Formats: sequence, C-alpha cells, structure tokens
Amino acid sequence: MRITMATDASAHDVAAVVNLVRDAVGSHDYISVDKVDEHVVVHVQQNGHHIDSSIFEALSCVDSVDESEVIYRQSGSDATDPETGYPLKRQIEIPTAGVRFGSDEFVVIAGPCAVENEEDLIKTARMAKAIGVKLLRGGAFKPRTSPYSFQGLGEEGLRILGLVRKEVGIGVVTEAMEPATIGMVSEVSDIIQIGSRNMQNFPLLKEVGRQPKPVLLKRGMSATLDEWLGAAEYILNEGNQNVILCERGIRTFSLHSRHTLDLSVIPSIRELSGLPVIVDPSHSTGSASKVPAMAKASLAAGADGLLIEVHPDPSRALSDGFQTLTLDQFGKLMGELKAVAKAVGRTL
Ligand code: PEP
Ligand code: MN
Repeated sequence: MRITMATDASAHDVAAVVNLVRDAVGSHDYISVDKVDEHVVVHVQQNGHHIDSSIFEALSCVDSVDESEVIYRQSGSDATDPETGYPLKRQIEIPTAGVRFGSDEFVVIAGPCAVENEEDLIKTARMAKAIGVKLLRGGAFKPRTSPYSFQGLGEEGLRILGLVRKEVGIGVVTEAMEPATIGMVSEVSDIIQIGSRNMQNFPLLKEVGRQPKPVLLKRGMSATLDEWLGAAEYILNEGNQNVILCERGIRTFSLHSRHTLDLSVIPSIRELSGLPVIVDPSHSTGSASKVPAMAKASLAAGADGLLIEVHPDPSRALSDGFQTLTLDQFGKLMGELKAVAKAVGRTL
C-alpha cells in the first residue's frame, strides 16, 4: 500500500499515519517514508496483513491511498472468487506429465535429494509411477551448505534424468542454480526448481522468467510472505506465468526439527495470490519419521501438492538420507494421503 500525504501535512501528521500503519502490520520494518515531488509518501509492505484503506482516506492530512502499490501486483491480480473475495487459484498444467497444479488434483512430486546413479533413479521412478506419481524430482546441481559435501553429478545428473524421463515415461523436476545452466536444465525437465537459498537471486529469477518451463519457487528459509511473493513477481514480470510456490520450512528458535513448517502460510497465500502452493515435508522437518504427519497435514491445510524425498536405501543416500523415505514408507504414505484427499474433496 502507498499512502500519499497532503502537501500541507505536518511531521506530526506523518508520524500519526506511520503509527497507525505500524499497529496494523506489527512492525516498523515494513514501513518506509520518502518524498515524491511535494508529497511525503508512506510505503507499506503488508506481509499478509489486511489494512483498511478507508481509515487513511478519511484523514484530511492524506491525499490518496493506492492499494495496488503492493509487491505482488501480478500474482495477486487474478480474478477473484465471488464467495471469498480472494484471488481465484491459477491452474498450471504440465501437459508432458499429465498433471494440473491448482486444480482439485493433489500433485505429489517424489524422488531422491540428488541424482546419484542410473539404477537407483530408474528403480525409484518405476515404483513412484506404479503408485500414481507423475513427477520425479532429483537434483543434478545441489546447493550445499558445506563446499566439501556432495554437490550433485552436474551434467551427468541431467543426462541420467533425461534418460529416466524417457525410459520410464515420468515428468522431471530439477534445480537450476545459475542463469548459465537454465538452458540445459530445461532440456530434461518439465518444471525447473529454484531452491530456498536462491529465492532472492534476482538475475536467476529473471532468467527463469524468460523461458517457458514452469518454475517451482521454494520459499527462502528466512523469507516473509511478501519477500516470497516478491520473488515470484520477478519471474512473472519476465513473462513466465507458470510459477508454483513451495513451502519448505523456515528458521525459528525451535530445535526439534530442521526447520519449522509454516502451514499457516497456505491460507495466507490464498488471500493474496492465485499461485498454487505445494509443501516439502522433507526439508522442513529434516527427519523421515516426521514426514508422513506433515504431508497429511499439508493436504488437509489446502496445499496443492507435495515434494517428498524418497530413495531405495536412504542409509546410503549421498545427501539428506535422514529425512528421506524408503520406497515402502512412501507407498504406505501415498495410501494414507488418498484417504485424506477423499475426506477433503481432492483427487490423488
Ligand atoms: C532440495 O530441494 O533438495 C533443497 C536443497 O531444498 P531447499 O532449497 O528447500 O533447501
Ligand atoms: Mn534435499
């Protein structure tokens, strides 16, 4: 929101408006004040808070209020649901995989953290496909905290993904970490993943926005909803309208899980944006034992799908094995998800 003060507004008037806004958004951090021509302008990042603009419009010290001055100008611009007044969900079709994000269909994406070898990936893909999974996820380029950890097989990993995609007949999701490799990543994938650590890598976001493959945009681990939707705007502004959000947990003081899964962000997104949102219960919890509970909770909370790490033998996975389900555990979870889906009117 952008509140333009009247030319004769005093410093006291500006402070009063800023205080009203601060009470609505909960912090000064989301407010900035600058001068445009003869007017003082108060910019507000709403972070999902509803602000009643009529309060400001009624003040004689305020010249105008522009509600479109939000950073999610495109992702929130969809037609609205007449019942709720919220943006209608965008449906993002992946014709090559036969799925539609944002529809009644709940889309499960599964696979190992990293592509490790042909044999394991084919085995995982075949099993996943047999139980109804249409998108296989595996990283060829891995963003790792330590430079000494396995960084992915790179181009060899892409080759394996391309081969499995063709041989098994399953869609592929894989991560691009730099603008220069987006072309080769897009050749073997049906959806390009942008990882948490790159959520605000603006050159990367712009580049992925200039190509046609749908983008899975993971939430930065310390990103507010505004920052996340702002990142999505970078992609949408370049022309690519197919952005799927992925909640993957955020940093909090909690130590019992790797990150804290912020499920309340799902209804918060629904109020602001039509973009579909899926949940990654693997990176958010950091342990395989907690994945099934959070996967089912995500479906019940209104997510459009899941991204789950699965490996034929997690104990020998080269990355993230501790949070990875075995094929059997994953099969059992899919059965449970089907029951939840039925209860909440979704198909799986
Ligand atoms: C991943 O999806 O393998 C990954 C590294 O996740 P994130 O970017 O959410 O940490
Ligand atoms: Mn991982």
